[in-house]
Amino acid sequence: MRILIVGAGIAGLALAKALEQRGMEAQLIECRPELPVTGAGLFLPGNAVRAIEQLGLREEVAEKAVPIKRQLILDAGGKVLNAIDSENFWRECASCLSLQRKGFQDILKASLGRSTIAFGRSIASLKQDSAGCSVTFDDGAAAKYDLVVGADGMHSTVRELASLGGSARYVGTVCWRFITQNTAGIDCWTAMLGTGRTLLAIPVSRTDVYVYADISVPGDGVPGLPPDSPLRSLFKDFAGPVFPLIDRLSADTPIHYGPIEEVRLKDWISGRVVLLGDAAHGCSPNMAEGAGMAMEDAVVLAEELSRSTDITKALRAYMERRRPRVDWVQNQCRARDKMRSLPALPRAAVLRLFGTSLYKRSYSPLLKSF
Ligand SMILES: Cc1cc2nc3c(=O)[nH]c(=O)nc-3n(C[C@H](O)[C@H](O)[C@H](O)COP(=O)(O)OP(=O)(O)OC[C@H]3O[C@@H](n4cnc5c(N)ncnc54)[C@H](O)[C@@H]3O)c2cc1C
Repeated sequence: MRILIVGAGIAGLALAKALEQRGMEAQLIECRPELPVTGAGLFLPGNAVRAIEQLGLREEVAEKAVPIKRQLILDAGGKVLNAIDSENFWRECASCLSLQRKGFQDILKASLGRSTIAFGRSIASLKQDSAGCSVTFDDGAAAKYDLVVGADGMHSTVRELASLGGSARYVGTVCWRFITQNTAGIDCWTAMLGTGRTLLAIPVSRTDVYVYADISVPGDGVPGLPPDSPLRSLFKDFAGPVFPLIDRLSADTPIHYGPIEEVRLKDWISGRVVLLGDAAHGCSPNMAEGAGMAMEDAVVLAEELSRSTDITKALRAYMERRRPRVDWVQNQCRARDKMRSLPALPRAAVLRLFGTSLYKRSYSPLLKSF
């Protein structure tokens, strides 16, 4: 089977790996000249780590990662509102991990054997007939495939070319992300909630910590906030342990800025074209389930393709298996984002009284295998 995967992000690389585990291979194209450089971290809840195990990569990933045993939610002044024993919660599944995104994608890429990746290449057009998909690339080359997979993220070109849906929707929040030295001694997942603002710090190695900062900027379109908005003044009313990481940030630390968006589609399939990961169901990072959902998608799609010679049937089986779980995560993210935007006092009361049961409610369905 000739398979083209558009996008060598987490979804695309994981699918190539899962296909190879079942004796298949894929051609990947990636519009960027290389995999992402440093600057962002990845928190992987237990179900994501289980998917990594199914890809046969748990040991390599664990070597580069930090185990996350506790998740703390504090108010902006640093008082603890809720503490989750994540080690215990996820024990029947796998321990949560965190690491640098680049390190993780490097492991996925290095694990590939026969599959190929063409960097700096994008898809330009896509036509389908009973024989399959005819694709042209942005460098003018053309090729035919039995299956085209859109693993090209939130702003998927494949989604558009296959008429599966339009643009991603801005959810009213913008964020900044960076990696810096862990001078604050952050030793677990630590979130601080202020009014319309969140700070989160997660250790990603023995020496470094990943910091995520967001503010609510409601509106229909992505606001034109400058990427170099002064984080120090936006979060100056926050206390330790996370604010000092912003306060001491050196001017040359690369900071990534962007809007938070989501994608909700009726269908992920059009003939021999199928969507995977954020291209199909991107959502706010509230549950840190984007990578987990993308890898679970990859394992299920590869399983279904290896089970049936009827591609259409395999694609439908993939979507039927994945849809309920992904819908659950998207709906939970919306509900949790709403709760996060409550005024500080009622939110603190809800988190103190019900924080642990809300966490269990959100994540328990994901403990089950997929
Ligand atoms: C601020 C923030 C924090 C997050 N934190 C976490 C977290 O801690 N844990 C977690 O699990 N998830 C997190 N996520 C979500 C997670 O990053 C995504 O869900 C995940 O990266 C999805 O992987 P993907 O491969 O589907 O998409 P992407 O990672 O976006 O990869 C898509 C790839 O396709 C390429 N591409 C795009 N268009 C084309 C084209 N036309 N041709 C060829 N290539 C193309 C892109 O360059 C990219 O490499 C976070 C998201 C955000 C925004």
